[in-house]
Amino acid sequence: MRVVLVTGGASGIGWACARRFAAGGDVVVIADIDAAAATSRAASLGPQHAAIAADVADPATAAAVIGFVLARHGRIDVLVNNAGIIDSGGTQITDQPLEALRRLLGVNLIGMERLASAARAAMLGQTPVTAGAPRGVIVNMASGAALRAIPLRNGYSASKAGVLAMTRVQGVAWAADGIWVNALAPGYIRTDLVDELIRRGRVDPSLTESRIPLGRMGRPEEMAEAVFFLASPAARGMVGSLLIADGAGSAYGASDAAPVQRGAAPRAAPEGTPVMVVSGADTAMGAACLRGLAAAGATVIAAATPADIAAAAQRHGRLDGLVNAAGSDGLDADDADLPQQIAQHLEAQFLAAQVAGRIMLAQGFGAVLNLTGAAALAAGVAPVAGSAAAGAVAMFARSMACEWGGSGVRVNALAVGAGIDPGGAAAFLLSPAAGYVSGSIIAMDGGRSVLSSKEPQAWP
Ligand code: NAD
Repeated sequence: MRVVLVTGGASGIGWACARRFAAGGDVVVIADIDAAAATSRAASLGPQHAAIAADVADPATAAAVIGFVLARHGRIDVLVNNAGIIDSGGTQITDQPLEALRRLLGVNLIGMERLASAARAAMLGQTPVTAGAPRGVIVNMASGAALRAIPLRNGYSASKAGVLAMTRVQGVAWAADGIWVNALAPGYIRTDLVDELIRRGRVDPSLTESRIPLGRMGRPEEMAEAVFFLASPAARGMVGSLLIADGAGSAYGASDAAPVQRGAAPRAAPEGTPVMVVSGADTAMGAACLRGLAAAGATVIAAATPADIAAAAQRHGRLDGLVNAAGSDGLDADDADLPQQIAQHLEAQFLAAQVAGRIMLAQGFGAVLNLTGAAALAAGVAPVAGSAAAGAVAMFARSMACEWGGSGVRVNALAVGAGIDPGGAAAFLLSPAAGYVSGSIIAMDGGRSVLSSKEPQAWP
């Protein structure tokens, strides 16, 4: 049983997180500025859960809230650092009062930093809840607005970009203490926050959805699943990383409407055991994914050739997921040249994805995960050939996500560092729980790609 603190847990994404952790057997404390809502939400979860009134922008809040959690439970295992506000005025920078900017930064960035620091101090003094578990986990709620600017939401974007940069630092600085820090960047999620923007005419829902390859806004429950994953052992190896859950919205770079249906209409996968295929199961990462998917209860098939993928789908009558691991070993090899890496990694994954993609488009559901190396994101962890091929494979996943999203097919890339087991992450990313994660390149590399160092070769 873990003790989980959710700030801003009385509504929207935070409330969905509170429900998800409670359903998973954890004990939840909700801290929210809306005391009445927080109290009734916590009560509805059951008597072991609690609420505390808190304005995270108040400098005294972090100590008071963490003190409350420790007094009640003696420990804090997970902080969902979620409380946030939008810029209410809709004004451009030239017209925005400094006070409004201060409030935004005070809640969204400074408040989050104080909560994270206070949580870390408490986590440092405790032993992990079970052997092998982290000492503590912090998930900072960022936003797609941290990555792409939205006019009249300038302070909000700045606050969330600050959260991202903060997460990278906390991630690499605190990992050695067994504290995992990562960020989630939701795209447009239908909560009170977005409904308010719609009411004020600042978000046009149909125009917004026309720019999202999956063709819809996300649900708070989908963000809660992503947060729950980041707090699970399956996220081991993610350090200061960003998980984008935006229906491939931020991956999309064309000028026309995004959700082009190139196959069947999207539909939920049918009941029954999901069928997952691993291409490149002879690689270390592919083999780890075979194990991870089997542990998650799927029917798992190792495909030596693209034809094996079609045969598996034919035999089982469905194809829920493809792990595309071909060429994921050997990216660090000095003797490989670029054409060889492209053939073994990009072209092999292209051929497997072609077969799986045709099947999934005809079904109207399915997910693909391209496995590649940390070299996709950072210099100094592989020679040129491995890096270039890894980068190409990662971006290839984003293109597939944008092409196939209109038929409900999701595609992501996982950039995995040496010695890290991607099996649990693959199981999550290919499952319906990751339903709004698409077009993402996810670093699972022990922090290598987020740590800027003068001595990149110092990494083992
Ligand atoms: P929401 O408005 O539905 O919920 C926010 C919660 O935070 C509310 O319960 C509110 O009372 C609480 N809160 C606000 N100010 C607070 C403060 N000073 N101290 C403590 N609690 C406070 O919003 P949401 O959509 O669920 O957003 C949750 C988080 O997700 C925010 O950080 C937001 O920036 C982020 N986010 C949301 C979206 C989206 O599309 N909804 C997209 C990207 C990021």
